[in-house]
Amino acid sequence: MRFFNTFSRNIEEFEPRVPAAGTVSMYTCGPTVYSRAHIGNFRAYIFEDLLQRHLELRRYKVHRVTNITDVDDKTIRGAREAKVPLAKFTEQFKEAFFEDADKLRIKRADEFPAATDRRYIDRMIDMIGELIARGLAYQADDKSVYFRIKKFPDYGRLAHFDLTQLQSTGRVKHDEYDKEHIGDFALWKAWDAEDGDVKWDSPWGPGRPGWHIECSAMSMTLLGDQIDIHCGGVDNIFPHHEAEIAQSEGVTGKKFVRYWLHCAHLLVDGQKMAKSLGNFYTVPDVLAKGYTGRELRYALLRVHYRVPLNFTWEGMNESRESLGRIDEWLGRLREIVKRGNAQRPTPNVQSSIQPDFESALDDDLNISAALGFLFESIRETNRAMDENKLDSASATAWLDWWNRINTVLDLEPETQVVVPQEVTQLTEEREKARCEKNWKRSDELRDRISALGWEVRDTKDGQKLTPRGAS
Ligand SMILES: [Zn+2]
Repeated sequence: MRFFNTFSRNIEEFEPRVPAAGTVSMYTCGPTVYSRAHIGNFRAYIFEDLLQRHLELRRYKVHRVTNITDVDDKTIRGAREAKVPLAKFTEQFKEAFFEDADKLRIKRADEFPAATDRRYIDRMIDMIGELIARGLAYQADDKSVYFRIKKFPDYGRLAHFDLTQLQSTGRVKHDEYDKEHIGDFALWKAWDAEDGDVKWDSPWGPGRPGWHIECSAMSMTLLGDQIDIHCGGVDNIFPHHEAEIAQSEGVTGKKFVRYWLHCAHLLVDGQKMAKSLGNFYTVPDVLAKGYTGRELRYALLRVHYRVPLNFTWEGMNESRESLGRIDEWLGRLREIVKRGNAQRPTPNVQSSIQPDFESALDDDLNISAALGFLFESIRETNRAMDENKLDSASATAWLDWWNRINTVLDLEPETQVVVPQEVTQLTEEREKARCEKNWKRSDELRDRISALGWEVRDTKDGQKLTPRGAS
């Protein structure tokens, strides 16, 4: 597997920090919950979802953390304007984030740490103290604590920036005259009247953490000093990720991240999305036009993550057509399996399906090539079906292949039968029984699942559930 590492600007062979463990630690910058995320944010989340799912298809166990930024200038301003406590103000946008992510079938991260959690605030304060002790940070006259970038020679390496070219970064507050260098960023922001009751005590007086230190503290608490993959949008590279490196490595002296992966921008009708241009869309905006979450997922998924994606309504219609072709193809294959005697495909038939889809994803997540292969396969099998040349064993093999690649794509139609909770539970119990080699219990559970109308098959990828009689 190869990925383009922003740090080296090269395609690199992927090897996790502890290859033998088969686990991958992954940190992805999540939403700042001051308003509903737009579809450009979700493009990045979908890219990260694709990455996680592909790693899992390749048998890695992914430990993924996505942070929620629930304290910063924008959230504080929003709460003040709405005249509600900060936590109440951000809660609605946290909920909206999960609602939209579910609509787009984005797999949940293992953890969603929130910056205001006392546990992480303490860690941030510890880290800032450590950075001061090492001469990497200082408290300025405005009482805020800043990172001293001149003391960290690697600062600018990720973004390939020349320090002398640094301009104000926007995320830092206006009172920058207190800083030693214009690029020094705030680790701890001293309380001021505009912050209202949003403040925590610290050795440097009351205040709140800067945005960057939140991610360093949360990733280190949950994933350790060194992580395999860190993702975000290209606009996170500077200053946010650059600052994360400086803070984390400043404290540990160890390399913080092995692979930095960044997703390109989303444009709307060829322009940057902006509320003032009237081309600013959220997930509900797109659904309100009659599209489904699945269609939007496909539209945001289908372009390689390092290529800017131009979102258009015409593109949404193309997505609908593409999905229609997949649905029709699956319908035809299932029909053949139903008509035949549903024999298991011989290894011969199975191996005739080339692994091109997965190989394309191994190549820096080349989804365009992977989908190209899917549609080429659809064309070929459709032709064979037109000529009545596809037997039920081959159709089953193609459906098995689809089920495998669909663990990455997650593009089954919305009408797909939902597995009842009880069946899922029994399946999980059966998994446990099988791990314990308790075959008697495993068979009993199979019968109980069957009595509920579901067939469970044991494949090399684990148990597969299908409604009985469907295929
Ligand atoms: Zn972050």
